[in-house]
Amino acid sequence: MRNVVIVGSGPAGLTAALYTGRANLQPLLIRGVEAGGQLTLTTLVENFPGFPKGVQGPELIEMMQQQAAEFGAEFMEGNVTRVDLSRRPFILEVGEERVETKTLIIASGASAKLLGLDSERKLLGHGVSTCATCDGYFFRNKEVVVVGGGDTAAEEALFLTRYAAEVSIIHRRDQLRASKIMQDRLFRNGKIKFIWNSVVRDVLDVAKGVVTGVQLRNVQTGEETAKACDGVFIGIGHSPNTSLFRGQLEMNEVGYITTRGGAKTSVPGVFAAGDVQDPVYRQAITAAGSGCMAAIDAERFLEAEH
Ligand code: NDP
Repeated sequence: MRNVVIVGSGPAGLTAALYTGRANLQPLLIRGVEAGGQLTLTTLVENFPGFPKGVQGPELIEMMQQQAAEFGAEFMEGNVTRVDLSRRPFILEVGEERVETKTLIIASGASAKLLGLDSERKLLGHGVSTCATCDGYFFRNKEVVVVGGGDTAAEEALFLTRYAAEVSIIHRRDQLRASKIMQDRLFRNGKIKFIWNSVVRDVLDVAKGVVTGVQLRNVQTGEETAKACDGVFIGIGHSPNTSLFRGQLEMNEVGYITTRGGAKTSVPGVFAAGDVQDPVYRQAITAAGSGCMAAIDAERFLEAEH
């Protein structure tokens, strides 16, 4: 029987592990499929305080993990396949293994959204990607498109200009949602082109098994055109990894876990931290901060029971 189990190994989960470790609660952290979370998919992080020259995302995660391990956090590889929050102790199944815990901290983060096209899914990993920092290297001197108009799309597009010959941003409106500073960088970059008021109707060419282009539709005129390209990067935002908890915890209409009074969820003893409960800020530092809150809330919950 565990005092605290933490699901997720991004900054929220690792901070919760550090704090509950230092509180002598011997936390167990289940790392999940996208171990390390979104920071492991980025390069330079310039906005995490304490690193005046920036820090590489994977390195930051590695350091957080070492720090949590210093204080007794244990790590388990694998993905939670089932949870039962209907009674205590809570039960989690991780493949064949069964874990029982007095408290649970959910820090399972959010994952990249897809457009929902059959061709997009079939060509994922064959020219379709949701992570420029992971796959950009494969598109040296090639033509790529980035779908979306927010900061994610902007960041992906800027990163891709390091490798690609041309990067076209396909956006469904004629104005970007991205922050002003990112927009300025995009407009200043000679390699970046814009295709406004357009949506991707299809990714070509499933029959060939690789991306050769995209079929576009102008949402104002209805006109359809094909654009040749070698890569399609989807940068339209993220959705929370909460399907395991559906029906067991209160969530908002798009599946973010509702927290109140700190990191408390609708089930006493279950806490949530990081992007899984935050559709607004979604930063490494806010995730880490909420991981700390969840740890302190869990510690106080256990204390109150004794
Ligand atoms: P956003 O929700 O801000 O933007 C998503 C973009 O994708 C929008 O432009 C949206 O269009 C478009 N979009 C959504 N769904 C579809 C679809 N089905 N088809 C076509 N286009 C679609 O998400 P982000 O991930 O970009 O950003 C989320 C938050 O994270 C923001 O607060 C952002 O500032 C922050 N962030 C900050 C970064 C940084 O500072 N470096 C990096 C990445 C994110 P529309 O505009 O029409 O709604």
